[in-house]
Amino acid sequence: MPSLAAVYLDHNASAPVPEELFPESEKLLKQGFANPSSIHEAGRRSRRLISEAAEHAAAFVDCDPEDVYWTSGASESNSWALHSAVQSALEKNPSRVPRLLISAIEHESVQLAAKALAARSDSRAELHSIPVDADGVIRVEALKTRLARDADWDLISVMHVNNETGVIQPIEDVVAAARSHGVPTHVDCVQTLGKIPISLKRLGANYATFSGHKIGAPKGVGFLAIQGEGKRLTALVHGKQQKGLRGGTENPVSVAMFGLVLSEMGKGRLAYPKGLEAWRDEFEAKMRDAIPGAVIHGKRARRLPNTTYVGFEGIDGDGVLMNLDLEGVAASSGSACTSGSVDPSHVLLAMGCDKAMARSSVRFSSGRNTAWPDFEKVLEVLPGIVRRMRGL
Ligand code: PLP
Repeated sequence: MPSLAAVYLDHNASAPVPEELFPESEKLLKQGFANPSSIHEAGRRSRRLISEAAEHAAAFVDCDPEDVYWTSGASESNSWALHSAVQSALEKNPSRVPRLLISAIEHESVQLAAKALAARSDSRAELHSIPVDADGVIRVEALKTRLARDADWDLISVMHVNNETGVIQPIEDVVAAARSHGVPTHVDCVQTLGKIPISLKRLGANYATFSGHKIGAPKGVGFLAIQGEGKRLTALVHGKQQKGLRGGTENPVSVAMFGLVLSEMGKGRLAYPKGLEAWRDEFEAKMRDAIPGAVIHGKRARRLPNTTYVGFEGIDGDGVLMNLDLEGVAASSGSACTSGSVDPSHVLLAMGCDKAMARSSVRFSSGRNTAWPDFEKVLEVLPGIVRRMRGL
């Protein structure tokens, strides 16, 4: 059995640290060991690494460096944004119930944070959902109609790109519609970073979340960028760091590595292969020819060129993944494993798929080091796996 996947098609879950950055990363490990709050030279060096990373991050996503807050990743950033919106609403008017409007396809970290706020006895936030169409695209017209009827929301949360389908959302329209009614917005930009250029200043969202490990920085580092009226943040993790808004000693090494990746990307290095979109289209066409009943999710929508999410009628996606793993291919499913049972993807259910189709789905997501032979390997083994599992 191979110990490491020869073919790694799971970049939407996590991307490897680029090998060309290993020497610089080693230097950062040596330079950034001290506590950035210490006043001695070593501490000041760690502090400088964090400030430089904030400059790189702000330049990459077009916001002000002082509005970048480092976190443990996008899950924390998402929780923090929702918490801040609800807390600010309660501070303004303790007797009013805070109201959140969340898209049906948000990452679990948004969905569960919203549910937790709804369950909290002091907030009891009211939750409402924004629907998507069969291709997984937010129904902007439904959102506009709703806002025209009822604009009393404390936050609208919509992701820029869906992590399962790779479908790109009409985020400019969503934010513009919300702003025209004075409603604050949160955008989960985790799958956008490095794949689609983003300008937060132009977009105008109040909160935007990012994660390092999806683009080759280490896991456990992300940031939340804020802008707009009030720039509202209320502490979720208490302590004196980061203006008293996010306690806990910052991690200068990981933060600096995140900054380094963004700086390199900003210079046009660490680019994705040019052929990605053509490869994806050929991969999908050949897969559909070879496997009857293969359904590509979000096919008609604008999608990231690196993502293919496919259902195989009649079989279990996790079984497909295990068989692919035995062949040295790493892919992923959209299902979340909860207390021993596999839940069908909430994204596919929101798109109108039935549970069986949702459970049968597998995601292939390519990255910087992907080449066409990686897809060929999948095309070589996948039809046989599906046939065997279907008992044919
Ligand atoms: N949001 C989206 C869209 C994601 O794809 C992920 C990662 O799976 C997250 C949030 C959570 O990111 P992190 O692993 O940094 O907590």
